[in-house]
Amino acid sequence: MHDLYDLAIIGGGINGAGIAADAAGRGLSVFLCEKDDLASHTSSASSKLIHGGLRYLEHKEFRLVREALAEREVLLKKAPHLVHPMRFIMPHQPHLRPAWLIRAGLFIYDYLGKREQLLGSEQVFFESPDSPLKANFSRGFEYSDCTVDDARLVVVNAMQAHEHGAKIMTRTICLSAQRMAGVWVLELEKDGQRLWIKAKALVNAAGPWVAQFIQQSLALKPAYGIRLVQGSHIIVPKLYAQNKAFILQNHDQRIVFAIPYLNQYTLIGTTDREYTGDPNTVEISPEEINYLLDVSNAHFKTPLTALDIIATYSGVRPLCDDESDNPAAVTRDYTLALDVTLDEAPLLSVFGGKLTTYRKLAEAALEQLKPFFGDLAPHWTESALLPGAEQFSSIDQLATEIGYKIKGLDEYTIQRWVYAYGTRVWSLIKQAGSVHELGLNFGHGLYALEVDYLVEHEWAVSSEDILKRRTKLYLQFSVDDAQQLDDYLTALHEHRMKKNVA
Ligand SMILES: Cc1cc2nc3c(=O)[nH]c(=O)nc-3n(C[C@H](O)[C@H](O)[C@H](O)COP(=O)(O)OP(=O)(O)OC[C@H]3O[C@@H](n4cnc5c(N)ncnc54)[C@H](O)[C@@H]3O)c2cc1C
Repeated sequence: MHDLYDLAIIGGGINGAGIAADAAGRGLSVFLCEKDDLASHTSSASSKLIHGGLRYLEHKEFRLVREALAEREVLLKKAPHLVHPMRFIMPHQPHLRPAWLIRAGLFIYDYLGKREQLLGSEQVFFESPDSPLKANFSRGFEYSDCTVDDARLVVVNAMQAHEHGAKIMTRTICLSAQRMAGVWVLELEKDGQRLWIKAKALVNAAGPWVAQFIQQSLALKPAYGIRLVQGSHIIVPKLYAQNKAFILQNHDQRIVFAIPYLNQYTLIGTTDREYTGDPNTVEISPEEINYLLDVSNAHFKTPLTALDIIATYSGVRPLCDDESDNPAAVTRDYTLALDVTLDEAPLLSVFGGKLTTYRKLAEAALEQLKPFFGDLAPHWTESALLPGAEQFSSIDQLATEIGYKIKGLDEYTIQRWVYAYGTRVWSLIKQAGSVHELGLNFGHGLYALEVDYLVEHEWAVSSEDILKRRTKLYLQFSVDDAQQLDDYLTALHEHRMKKNVA
């Protein structure tokens, strides 16, 4: 007999994890499979913003912008450890966009969505020599949006789903699914082994693979086309001291962000280019690197060359095809496609979407599935805290408490823990009272206790899962340090397997 779930979800990106959390919290039995690690594709390759999307106003995407603006305030409360207000400075370039147009845009931005915590926009003047901008920029505009740890937002949603009973399986690919006798039968593969489950409804949140999954794994026809649009970022040493982001206008009418990142770096991106390759292996091209360096060098006093780049990353936006000529203009809004025939199990596919609007997308998905589940509970996620936000007073307060509990722990690790785990840090620390009780130090403040926690509670399997997505320590770790961590993880995995067999 195969396990029967109410809902099976394909994809452990933000949309799959968000739908899983919402559905499980409403009492549905949920299964989610992710072929790689949680957030290992588009959802960890974003600009890491929870934003209304100022530039989408130019494309008249008022519905999306209104929803996204309001979600900033919702997410600031749901995950205050992961989502943080940030001021954005737009240096004025009168030949690219007149001041009246920007003022009008910012006025709409200030008032279109609910704003409680975030400050409104204003005009600013740049005083050389303090300004990081070149001398030709004398004025600009400043407004609010938020930054987020994108990969961790996915992980905490998966945790919330799990805490409401969902089964989350990573490194598990769904090879095919078929409707049989009123349910979906899914054929899965994990560690080379085949397994099967059944579900009353199927959600396809496969991101860049959404259309391919419908065609190849379900042998059906997608309701919409998908446009794959690559976007890349470069990470460089901190370009300027201010804790503010810049939104830079380029001659091609595109904008590029320069965002303070992890205290020591500046994140610069993104690009927009049509992508036809395999989304598994997307990487930044030399042209994209030059493009981002050129935009930065046209604005900032600190010159950048390719040698300054510490890391790069690339992702593929799975956008709903609206037949725009320009990849930058394709809609960023989401579309849900419900495929159902009489007496058959429903299929709901997710096309497009933003990290920012994942929660509203999940609510819309559950609204579409409601008719198939008679007594479905009402929506609940707007005011529900995500894991780590429970009893969270402030960053400083939690940092003080950790410092008090773990004698001798360095300030950098304390801060990193607060921002990554919020109040779940206490599950990580357990009974430890000093640095010596945190176990082996793999370098840069990564101790065995944190690794154990990530394996036990956050589905981490490899050093990449831990360093790249859950802690961001990959920017500091050497190959040898990472190898030591992988050896530890292999031993830990074998130990857990033996324990399970016994
Ligand atoms: C460069 C860039 C910058 C962006 N910046 C922002 C931003 O600042 N703010 C914002 O709000 N949004 C931003 N976005 C958009 C946002 O990142 C995406 O909309 C979002 O991450 C898409 O999530 P997803 O869950 O649909 O896809 P994904 O994160 O790609 O998840 C889909 C998952 O499905 C899995 N999968 C596929 N097929 C199968 C299968 N057969 N079996 C099992 N698993 C499968 C994949 O492995 C993948 O992990 C940006 C996007 C890009 C590319």
